[in-house]
Amino acid sequence: MPITVEIIAYGALFIIGSALGSFLNVLSMRYAPERSVFAEKSIGGRSHCMKCKKKLTWFELFPLVSFAVLRGKCRSCGAPLSIQYPIIEFLGGLIAVAVAYYLNSIYSVPDFVFASLAAPWWHYALLGAWILVFIILLLVLLIDLKHYVVPNELNVILGVLGIIVVGIMWKYKNELPLFSTSFLKQYSLFLAPTGNLLLSHVIGAFTAAVFFALLSFASRGQGMGFGDVKLALASGFLLGWPDMALAVVIAFILGGIFGAYLLISGRLSMKDRVPFAPFFVIGIALVFFFGEAILKGYFTLFGL
Ligand SMILES: [Zn+2]
Repeated sequence: MPITVEIIAYGALFIIGSALGSFLNVLSMRYAPERSVFAEKSIGGRSHCMKCKKKLTWFELFPLVSFAVLRGKCRSCGAPLSIQYPIIEFLGGLIAVAVAYYLNSIYSVPDFVFASLAAPWWHYALLGAWILVFIILLLVLLIDLKHYVVPNELNVILGVLGIIVVGIMWKYKNELPLFSTSFLKQYSLFLAPTGNLLLSHVIGAFTAAVFFALLSFASRGQGMGFGDVKLALASGFLLGWPDMALAVVIAFILGGIFGAYLLISGRLSMKDRVPFAPFFVIGIALVFFFGEAILKGYFTLFGL
């Protein structure tokens, strides 16, 4: 396969991803807890400057490029544009490229090369589903940071994507390379109570949801809301056991470190709320991309 095809494919993925990131910016900035993420008020209408309300023209709507050309300022009133725009646009592009590159490396059989454009259809379906998963998780992170809520419709989308991903893996399980059903690779063997693919994903969903529900109940909904429980259910099914357990552990370690830092630095009192979903999202991403490496590092550290 000529290298140029691969570069063009990854370039196209970056552009698609940054366009999705651009859409995420709009959705997260216009979101209000009393209405749907996808309400007409949020998705309708041309993007406009937050200050002077001037509508953006078509050439100002290109992800990243526009921000650079405008040097981060509104063309008519000169007000600075939020730095969130280019950051999320870049992250969107990075997600699309990184997911493709990573899935390609897991399924390192000759025809599982996304960039060759000659793989079976379900390889691309898995790629598209996982890109959308991380795009939606990024939106969950942005909205929870600002509004302390995980919108229900995003959990539903994650649940549907989980059913698609697990469904495809189940249907083509005999064609999947060894250790490709868990992002912990060979470590999943001794952490898993079952070798059944479907069952491990049901267990992942069930244990994560019950664990979060108990926490929510124990804290009377203060520390953990019902939105977090549904997020755990959807992403637990998506990741399956034992991947989900590692994502939860990482989320609690990160949340604990961050919370302690805020308390010590006096930016937070015990009564303040800290959104949990962002740590959970980071935990899921770390398990997806580095799950095996994290466990390897852990076991090496303790000489196991
Ligand atoms: Zn303006």
